[in-house]
Amino acid sequence: MKKYKKETIAAKAGIGSDMHHRSIVPPLYLSSNFEYKELGEEQEYEYTRETNPSRDHLINALTELEDGVGGEILSSGMAAITLVANILNNNSKVILPHDCYGGTNRLFSSLAEKGILEAYFIDQSQESFCKKAISKINPDLIWIETPSNPLLQAVDIQEISKKAKACNALVAVDNTFLSPSLQNPLKLGADIVMHSTTKYINGHSDVIGGALITNNHEILLKLKFWANALGITGSPFDSYLTLRGLRTLSIRMEKHEKNAAAIVELLSEHPKVNKIYYPGLPNHPSHAIAKKQQSGFGGMLSFEISGDLARVKSFIEGMKILPLAGSLGGFESLVSHPYTMTHGNLTPNQKKEVGISEGLIRISAGLENTKDLLEAVNLGLEKI
Ligand SMILES: *Cc1c(COP(=O)(O)O)cnc(C)c1O
Repeated sequence: MKKYKKETIAAKAGIGSDMHHRSIVPPLYLSSNFEYKELGEEQEYEYTRETNPSRDHLINALTELEDGVGGEILSSGMAAITLVANILNNNSKVILPHDCYGGTNRLFSSLAEKGILEAYFIDQSQESFCKKAISKINPDLIWIETPSNPLLQAVDIQEISKKAKACNALVAVDNTFLSPSLQNPLKLGADIVMHSTTKYINGHSDVIGGALITNNHEILLKLKFWANALGITGSPFDSYLTLRGLRTLSIRMEKHEKNAAAIVELLSEHPKVNKIYYPGLPNHPSHAIAKKQQSGFGGMLSFEISGDLARVKSFIEGMKILPLAGSLGGFESLVSHPYTMTHGNLTPNQKKEVGISEGLIRISAGLENTKDLLEAVNLGLEKI
């Protein structure tokens, strides 16, 4: 079969699947159940918790984009992470990044507290330290999230995967921040790639969803079994909307990145800005890794202004068109304050350890006109 480029895969997904009416857009199958042709005959679709054509249209497209053998669509990014936790045997050892997504930390910490598994949170951006930890812990699963939130530190997937293979550990990568458009962890040696499709893949801020894709048939069977057993597969309607979003993923990522880079350029010349975290900048600690394993630097950026909450508040209020909100990857630009929002639960010491100061501001660059966006950021900076 011919291997198409990513934009083409997204455009062609599901076309030609409606044999009955030959509709261009694959129909939405809301039906919870499917009629048996004949008693005793197995069929592709029986009950929507287990399998559903609308979910298949989406997972087939994502599988092709990530170069896997298959996967599963789940009801949220967290459901996807829950599914990975459930294919492990009891007492498994899991290594995770110390600055991983808050929900990932909460899930694995709580499972560890209940004695179901052992969770080790380490600084994976320190490669030699991380490799030593892998040798010492001898883990069953290494969870990677790259680039990290909100400082966008990258982890070398290829290097960690090589080390993991040497001790028979699975490698799963949370690829939410870049989408399949800008990074393909399976090609770099990972076994499972995870997405919160809530973010860039759907891209329209109107679906909560998740996906897992693997390049290993044995893992795929386990994922499918546990997704059905736990009852956490995604709804057909959400899958339909998400495939609709996926059609424009590549072109959206280009604009997200263009807008992010423009904001970074403006910030880098501004006296009120102390520090900028964007992997596209040659002085970002992960610039080289990002350049090696990503096909773009993405649409997320963070920066630091000096001073307290009051100054951050004036910046945010001054910007006007950017809503203050968590989440990312939608058509709309968003501003957030990690210190009080995404990382609000950490102790002041933990915040310091992962580098989150009171003056740190994160922007998810949306699809607005670049000039309008720069004007908004400028207004905010003036208000400080
Ligand atoms: C949002 C997010 C998740 C969780 O996804 P939900 O769809 O909100 O459940 C996991 N990882 C990262 C990096 C995220 O940004």
